[in-house]
Amino acid sequence: MARVNIPTFKLNNGREIPALGYGTWLGVDEKFDFSTAGIPKMIEALSYAIDIGYRLVDTAHVYRVEPEVGQVINKKIKEGVVKREELFVTTKVWQHFHREADVEVSVRGSLRRLNLDYIDLVLMHWPMSISQDGVDEKIDYLETWRGFESVLSKGLVKSIGVSNFNVQQMDRLLKNCKVPPATNQIEINLNLGQKELVDFCQANKVLVTAYSPFGTMVPSRSAPNSPEPKLNNPTMLEIAKKHGKTVTQVTLRYLYQRGMVSIPKTVTNSRVLENASIFDFTLDESDVATLAKFDNGFRTVRPYFWQDYDNYPFDKVPEKLEIPEALRIWKNGINLDID
Ligand code: NDP
Repeated sequence: MARVNIPTFKLNNGREIPALGYGTWLGVDEKFDFSTAGIPKMIEALSYAIDIGYRLVDTAHVYRVEPEVGQVINKKIKEGVVKREELFVTTKVWQHFHREADVEVSVRGSLRRLNLDYIDLVLMHWPMSISQDGVDEKIDYLETWRGFESVLSKGLVKSIGVSNFNVQQMDRLLKNCKVPPATNQIEINLNLGQKELVDFCQANKVLVTAYSPFGTMVPSRSAPNSPEPKLNNPTMLEIAKKHGKTVTQVTLRYLYQRGMVSIPKTVTNSRVLENASIFDFTLDESDVATLAKFDNGFRTVRPYFWQDYDNYPFDKVPEKLEIPEALRIWKNGINLDID
């Protein structure tokens, strides 16, 4: 069987995190409903990923796949493929659990669903606090963070971090915390370089994790009006050819050379292998300069249905949209209820 050798980065608490992991968000349909269709394929692809050497798995309560992710992990441990301490499991606390005491409720729920004794890294999924009824609860993320520090001190998790925090939010959190976040997980891809935020995080020893690392480059995400580069972009193809790699590998390698973890999602075994086969070549300065030019600020993940809520981290757009039901009342009632 093929093997991949994924290096690690060091977090600010001294722990190591693999530089590339397996993302488990299976996406949503046009009504923003979470689909179960991809779950059997994900189980197979995640099993394969662990077999060939992936050690980081990124999941979240809201993805509705923690039970299946836990099943695969426990099976691989039982089979002797991997030891628990060799794996790095990340999950996230959703916006409905932002009261200080609720963070522990959420983390204990994740532990139960994953069937694990501890979680390696738990993230505050978004800085906003929104109830299941769509009410802006206006809970300060500093309060929520105290809940994170508490689950850390109780040993339920080994590291704590945030996701989707902007520069101002990171700055305020860093100035008002006991334990600094180990990572900020944010969208980064060729269209969305986020230089200011990445520089800020790195200057403050907060490792950046890049989600949606392909942006709209891949056919499943690309629309007629989405920006270049697509997979057939001639400049990308040229760089890929020069290194004997694919366009997606060049993209992931670029993120690695920027000093960040990336967590591409795929339910296709050949891509599981492809995405992690990026640690045997180096982009040169001219490649890096060329790739940096694709940065145009285009966001793939822009949940503007939250934009009027306190602490929404991104710039606002004129469009208005109700919060999709699947992101509100998902704990009690609608399909894919996992709790
Ligand atoms: P990705 O950039 O990982 O893109 C996923 C898509 O790319 C899938 O359709 C997949 O297809 C396709 N793909 C993967 N590899 C290749 C390849 N080598 N060639 C061609 N196509 C490929 O997007 P995600 O939004 O899923 O982000 C990755 C992960 O980041 C998520 O799974 C989740 O864990 C995390 N995330 C976190 C967020 C947060 O708010 N913190 C927000 C969004 C994501 P297929 O599966 O069919 O192979």
